[in-house]
Amino acid sequence: MRFKEEARHSLERAKECLRSASRCVAFTGAGISVPSGIPDFRSAKTGLWARFDPMEVASLSAFREQPEAFFNWLEPLAVNILKAAPNPAHNALADLQKAGRVQTIITQNIDRLHQKAGAQDVIELHGNIELLLCLKCRCDFPLEQYQTSWLEKHIFPRCPHCGSLLKPDIVLFEEMLPADAWNQAEYLCRNVDLILIVGTSLEVMPAASLPMEGYNHGAKLVILNRSPTPMDQIAQAVISMDVAESLPLLAGAILS
Ligand SMILES: [Zn+2]
Repeated sequence: MRFKEEARHSLERAKECLRSASRCVAFTGAGISVPSGIPDFRSAKTGLWARFDPMEVASLSAFREQPEAFFNWLEPLAVNILKAAPNPAHNALADLQKAGRVQTIITQNIDRLHQKAGAQDVIELHGNIELLLCLKCRCDFPLEQYQTSWLEKHIFPRCPHCGSLLKPDIVLFEEMLPADAWNQAEYLCRNVDLILIVGTSLEVMPAASLPMEGYNHGAKLVILNRSPTPMDQIAQAVISMDVAESLPLLAGAILS
């Protein structure tokens, strides 16, 4: 009962923040895609991922030096992501964006579920799974092109021009975040009055420093995340529910 009462108050405060904000960005993480069946690729050690330590296989040096381990790790993740569909949280966020309540969605996710839900303006801080890059020729290829050969016949994807193994366009350990995406996200966070944080424990650096940067430049923070985050204390509202429930509730209250 007390929990429910608290959640109601938090939702009310979050609503007020969203209503009164003239410029708002959303900042999303793995938690928004968990209800779509996608575990956090950097930390999940359950199910298919239990066999691997992401720190060891999801790195640039693993891609270069142990491609077999790298692709064996990535393959089930890619299959899982390609078959996943947006959930009510992605849909609610796309609705808020269409209604002009949220301008840009800054995401740490690589799954493109925001776009599949109809969101338009999305900044991907960690790249996305739908492209494969040849590091030698500097060209890219849609993953779709390799869906049968790689994901069904298990032949690792190679560049048709030079034969090099193709690297998915996702930010691996030991890699920098894409500069354009980062600069744009940082600029936005410094120039909005509200950051709606959804499904992230705010622990993966450097991405998690963006909401703090926004806060230091005067933005209010509203946090929707199942577990506590290091920024809960400075947020205007914290809603600790499944985001597939809380975000549609919030969007429904704002857009009705
Ligand atoms: Zn090539």
